[in-house]
Amino acid sequence: MSENPGRSPDPAGGPRRRQKPAPSDGRRLPARRSRPERPGTGRIRRFRARLLAWYDAHRRDLPWRRRPDDAWAQLVAEFMLQQTQVATVTAYYERFLRRFPTVESLARAPQEAVLALWSGLGYYRRARMLHEAARRIVREHGGEVPSTVDELARLPGIGRYTAGAIASIVFGRREPVLDGNVRRVLIRWQATDGDPDAPDLRKRLWDLAEALVPRRRPGDFNQSLMELGATVCTPRAPGCGVCPLRRSCAARRLGLTEILPRAKRRRTPEALNIVALAVERDGRLLFVRRPARGLWGGLWDLPTEAVACGERPTQALRRLVRRLAGGRRAVGRPVGRITRLLTHRKVTFRLYRLTGTPAARGIPAGRRAGDTGYRWLKPDESGRVGVSRAVQSLIAMLDRHRSRRRFRRPEADRPGRRSRDQLQGAAAEEAGEESGCGTVSLTGTSTDG
Ligand code: SF4
Repeated sequence: MSENPGRSPDPAGGPRRRQKPAPSDGRRLPARRSRPERPGTGRIRRFRARLLAWYDAHRRDLPWRRRPDDAWAQLVAEFMLQQTQVATVTAYYERFLRRFPTVESLARAPQEAVLALWSGLGYYRRARMLHEAARRIVREHGGEVPSTVDELARLPGIGRYTAGAIASIVFGRREPVLDGNVRRVLIRWQATDGDPDAPDLRKRLWDLAEALVPRRRPGDFNQSLMELGATVCTPRAPGCGVCPLRRSCAARRLGLTEILPRAKRRRTPEALNIVALAVERDGRLLFVRRPARGLWGGLWDLPTEAVACGERPTQALRRLVRRLAGGRRAVGRPVGRITRLLTHRKVTFRLYRLTGTPAARGIPAGRRAGDTGYRWLKPDESGRVGVSRAVQSLIAMLDRHRSRRRFRRPEADRPGRRSRDQLQGAAAEEAGEESGCGTVSLTGTSTDG
């Protein structure tokens, strides 16, 4: 199963052998190192044997590994593990399978129930794709998860990697996988130079992965490669001293483990500034359902407005209040600010609290094109519908803000005693802080966190 590895402890806990100092990042490797070579039969055999023996001894006990023959359970795990660490996925996985134990149960469910269970896991597009894939499996395959790579890859949200993982792990087909972990292991094992995202190098790595996968135990072999990348051959400080491939690893021999794979060129994240409004009525908060497509598509959200390039947050706030309150006079007080770093975006939310009960009583009077519904919910009921982690943080910030106000002594209600959350929001408002010039559209395809 693929996962975002992060830093992992050395599972064997053994001492790490000192490596030769790596050359500087700018140094070029010999030209023959720019492509992975197909190893000879003996080398392949030793690679497989060592890796499988290591896997048998060191594999982690993960919930999806306890159901190796359950194609549906494996499919759910593969979707959840995309871009997400094992530790985060585990709790969501068990809960999701309890609620949707079969492909039919998910296919029948409304999207809102699916997003609610996915709430907080991020990358909500995966949930929508999994839901659609379940419907297609019921409609086109009689409820049976297909077993071939070609059929699997025709389902929504399934690419060559996920198809190969399901086909090999569940159905024992000799299919390769190549995710970030496997790619790192293979690049280091052969000390291959070059941009790991370049199509030519990607194709050669797929060819190498295909040559390595054995006819016997292809699923275990693929999992052993991914496991090695996640726990030993980690992005930084790989545990070469306990690695089963240490004797044949070219990067280790050449002292290149710290510079391979070559770092990808990072895109500067686009700045996105949003004002969010907490509208309260009778102990409930107003939630708005986001359009089905785009960032946080289909999730429930506090009313928000994107701050246009060069605009002050307070201008966007006024626009939002006017739209919601249908022209009634209402004021938004700053509560605080949070920033969320998504894959390609840095999103800053400034939360305001609408004051004035009459204004709140008239809401919602306006409706933005694409908004698909409104709902008044108690803050602790937000877990029943799908909300993003950002909205969970905003609700928690509002809660802290309310508690402080409730217990504050009168003399403490001075600007100098305001909370850090509030000061951040107020400072931005008072300084008339303008939005950075980023993309302000909230729609369009995106990985959403
Ligand atoms: S020896 Fe080191 S660099 Fe090579 S595959 Fe093993 S952990 Fe990775």
